[in-house]
Amino acid sequence: MKAEIIAVGTELLLGQVVNTNATFLSEELAALGIDVYYHSVVGDNPERLSELLVTADKRSELIVLCGGLGPTEDDLTKQVTAQHVGQELVRDPAGYAQLEAFFKTRKGIMTENNLRQTLVFKDGIPLPNNNGLAVGIFYQDETHTYLLLPGPPSELKTMVLEQVNPLLKRAFPQKEQLISRVLRYYGIGESALAAELADLINEQTNPTIAPYAKPNEVTLRLTVKTSDPKQGIKQLDQLESVIQNRVGRFFYGYGEQNALVNVVVDLLKQKGKTVTAAESLTAGLFQSTLGTVPGVSEVFPGGFVTYSAAMKSKLLDIDPVLLTQHGTVSRACAEAMAVQARRAAGTDYAVSFTGVAGPEPLEGQPKGTVWIALASESGVTSDVYTFSRDRAYIRHSAVMAGLDLIRKELLR
Ligand code: ATP
Ligand code: MG
Repeated sequence: MKAEIIAVGTELLLGQVVNTNATFLSEELAALGIDVYYHSVVGDNPERLSELLVTADKRSELIVLCGGLGPTEDDLTKQVTAQHVGQELVRDPAGYAQLEAFFKTRKGIMTENNLRQTLVFKDGIPLPNNNGLAVGIFYQDETHTYLLLPGPPSELKTMVLEQVNPLLKRAFPQKEQLISRVLRYYGIGESALAAELADLINEQTNPTIAPYAKPNEVTLRLTVKTSDPKQGIKQLDQLESVIQNRVGRFFYGYGEQNALVNVVVDLLKQKGKTVTAAESLTAGLFQSTLGTVPGVSEVFPGGFVTYSAAMKSKLLDIDPVLLTQHGTVSRACAEAMAVQARRAAGTDYAVSFTGVAGPEPLEGQPKGTVWIALASESGVTSDVYTFSRDRAYIRHSAVMAGLDLIRKELLR
């Protein structure tokens, strides 16, 4: 079973919109055991779409089109595909009723164009749109299956999850399915990780191992193809334990969405601990990162952004003499910031950041020099780091290092 995905829309070609529909569709099809061999994007142009359909017919059995089902003149996916497969376009009564109801409540005027959204293939299965007005289409002839889906991701996702997946499962029952597991690592680079696992990666067939580098972290996706889910999970467990034996000290969590900050906030919640921060070069980035996690207020009451020496003294009550003696990029400053922030906020932990984001050196120290301190009930510890690349990367690196310090402290 070979499948391909065609996204239709000039806005995609111009780079104004990221083709997230293709990512989502590929994941869903993979989970159904359907192999996707091609992704393409074509503008709102009937000739080029028509040519692409001819090509797709030669190499794929399932052709998924998304976008261009809307009411405007440039939305032509249905018209072009109907012509390609020799289907007549007819009005879908349910879609029409929905459209009428919509215009009644909005008091808008329904135009001829709006009717286009309710057109379906005469011999296809209409796919109602629960988040919009454009009706989708599922159509099969002797050789091919065509799926026409709306462009807006919220409409497409709902349609796929609620209607398309059950239809595809019935139309293409698969003996095998794919099961994936994502492992997340901090403190090791992609190439170092790949080197540690080189033999496993070179030998991989089933399960497969795919490393993926993100800023300051690496993920490994393990995927097994199996007809027996229990056996598949056992295979993943075995592979994971071999991998963790080698690089487990850098492992911090599972899952595509589970970033380091989520793991830290979860741990804080589990242990009933709170955290604050005093930030110089990161200027709030650490606290803003905490803020991405829903419900973080339970463990984070607030904190401090103290850029200048004067603000460090004023907000954190740090002796100005200490700052002039040691400089602000120093162990003494970092530790004082953490200790004072912890005291002022009344939290279990406080982390502080002071250093040189660059591009210029500061107080005679090169860019990338960052002191990070962690204050807790048992005192204060600190370390100096040398981060590389540009200003944004240095600040992000500092935040990640701070998060990892707290994580390790919570796991002690
Ligand atoms: P509408 O009724 O809204 O016009 P449509 O089916 O005609 O729906 P398009 O006009 O192609 O869809 O796209 C509508 C919007 O959906 C785009 O402006 C874009 O924001 C989003 N979109 C379209 N295609 C994709 C895609 N492949 N990935 C992510 N977003 C997309
Ligand atoms: Mg449109």
